[in-house]
Amino acid sequence: MRQTQGVIVVVAAISGMVLSGPPAQADHAAAVAAYREGNGLFDEDRFAEAVAAYGRAIGEDSQYAEAYHNLALASEMVDRQKAMAAWQRFLDIAANREDLKYDVARARARLQLLESMPRLPEAMQPSHYVPAAGDYYWTISAESEGEEWKDFPLKVFLGSAPQMQWQEGAREAYDNWSKFFPLELVALPKGADIRMGWDESMSEEMHAGEELDWVQVRYEGGRLKGRRYAVITVDLSRRWSKDEMRAIVSHEMGHALGIKGHSESKGDIMFWQVQERTYRVGVAGIPLPAFWRSLVKQPSQRDINTLIRLYNSAGSSKRFR
Ligand SMILES: [Zn+2]
Repeated sequence: MRQTQGVIVVVAAISGMVLSGPPAQADHAAAVAAYREGNGLFDEDRFAEAVAAYGRAIGEDSQYAEAYHNLALASEMVDRQKAMAAWQRFLDIAANREDLKYDVARARARLQLLESMPRLPEAMQPSHYVPAAGDYYWTISAESEGEEWKDFPLKVFLGSAPQMQWQEGAREAYDNWSKFFPLELVALPKGADIRMGWDESMSEEMHAGEELDWVQVRYEGGRLKGRRYAVITVDLSRRWSKDEMRAIVSHEMGHALGIKGHSESKGDIMFWQVQERTYRVGVAGIPLPAFWRSLVKQPSQRDINTLIRLYNSAGSSKRFR
């Protein structure tokens, strides 16, 4: 609801500007005040409200290039069409500004990327982002950029785990993510985008689980075609409980969905210690099962927000000061 209101305010501000004919003396002080308010809201992940504030700044000063820049960035997390319109306006207004030439080049690339991005399923639309929960997009964006999938739903092969409680844990991990991310179970590993590799040995002893991306290359109609898939392996030498297996697979599935980095917060499934095994991690004296029990077992809203932001942003970019 809030999002919708924000959008309406911007439209009103822009059309009001157009209707008023040749611009009167721009009230730059008022424009700057609204711009700063927008920046504050942007930093709190309140994108729809930030969009409204930047819209007011532009209403006061129709040539305010920086406001258009930040409006476009915030709009990516509200409405892609409006984001593209705002980037275009920024390009028009900033075209002759020598001090912004690099920003103009970046904005042009961003606009092109937005035009080529796939249509996202409903569950990943920005309206499902919960501002109060925030995200850790900035800590993972550099590693994760370009790792987004483009065809939905993703096909997931869970296979047969050596133990029943592991099978159940893996299934629950799938169920938890599929509430949010468009996933589909398939019966065969061939053609799956994400596969559980129960038979494959771990390449790294220190991890409870591991997620690896592969590209399968083959000739199709005389042309070389690459197909990407992710394999999740688990260290099966431990007596994982069902809950622990759910945590491990949930974490690795988060990597497979596109979050290639880690959260710094213990409440998220993508917290780095969920993966790092405790041989050397600084929880000396606490036995492994106790450590695992203290960790979350399913994706948090912050995890989900981060994924939504990753899929809706045309790459990471800082707002203007
Ligand atoms: Zn990890």
